[in-house]
Amino acid sequence: MQLVRPDSVADAVAALGNGSVALAGGTELVPLLRSRLAAADTLVELRDVVPKGIDGPRIGAGTTLGKLEVDPQIPDALREACRLAASPQLRATGTIGGNLLQATRCWYWRLDFPCRLHGGERCHARDGQHREHAIFANDFCASAHPSDPAAALLALGATVRTDRRELPLADLYRLPTEEDRATTTLAPDELILELEVPQPDASAYLMAMDRRRWAFALVGVVAARFADGTTRVALAGAAPIPWLLDSLDAATPLPRTEYKVRIAETLVRRARAALEQPR
Ligand SMILES: Cc1cc2nc3c(=O)[nH]c(=O)nc-3n(C[C@H](O)[C@H](O)[C@H](O)COP(=O)(O)OP(=O)(O)OC[C@H]3O[C@@H](n4cnc5c(N)ncnc54)[C@H](O)[C@@H]3O)c2cc1C
Ligand code: SF4
Repeated sequence: MQLVRPDSVADAVAALGNGSVALAGGTELVPLLRSRLAAADTLVELRDVVPKGIDGPRIGAGTTLGKLEVDPQIPDALREACRLAASPQLRATGTIGGNLLQATRCWYWRLDFPCRLHGGERCHARDGQHREHAIFANDFCASAHPSDPAAALLALGATVRTDRRELPLADLYRLPTEEDRATTTLAPDELILELEVPQPDASAYLMAMDRRRWAFALVGVVAARFADGTTRVALAGAAPIPWLLDSLDAATPLPRTEYKVRIAETLVRRARAALEQPR
């Protein structure tokens, strides 16, 4: 395997695709390569290419979660979502761009079962063990999206800038289907460069985990209230993609995941109440 270090976005994009894969912090990609869940002839190092840092509402996609969790310019919900993600070592290395593109934690997928997300014909989780799986949009693939920051950015109404387009964060994701098993709309040679995050009047992130630290969200709830009086609520760990909540009544929990709906109800109530607390 080769490593290339382009020094411009154009060179990086030209080097991608056809067996070449982008490498940011490597905290997700390297384990996937080691376990042969991802394959690459060439790794395209993004360090000198993708912007880093925070400038008001703009966040470089190469900014680490560790930087985001302590920057006062960042809305509370996103700071908290970064602080609660992974471990300090991983947050010091893992970037926000890589976090948004991390693969599912579904244990069948990680063990390389020939499931629908791997192009197969069955969802092994629906028929098998799915305690941590999705409570929305789970009929084709029942995986639960693992990113806390993605749910925060969804509720905050963030925009993603790539090397070729600008899109609402919601449009970065898609539900997998029979014809197309991808869960993002990013092209294989497309780079996320920057995020733009509107400043809410108030926002909060609450998360339920199996342990108090360093576990993926069983359910994560983000609430964000804006100057025009609207409040948006989004969930992590609830659907194959970050989920903008309309109503919990629409949940379709599989057997043994009903408890997630109860957790979500409580966390939504608490997150909305947190928006009313004086800062
Ligand atoms: C043990 C463990 C626990 C974790 N716990 C949590 C958790 O609780 N909550 C949570 O939200 N996350 C969690 N994570 C995920 C972690 O936050 C991500 O691994 C990390 O943020 C990925 O960033 P990276 O820079 O290392 O990405 P990489 O591993 O370098 O890349 C990940 C993917 O994104 C692509 N990519 C990276 N940057 C770009 C870009 N700018 N444009 C286009 N493609 C790009 C890569 O090609 C690759 O496919 C955990 C990870 C681990 C290993
Ligand atoms: S939930 Fe999705 S990733 Fe997991 S086994 Fe089913 S199809 Fe595969």
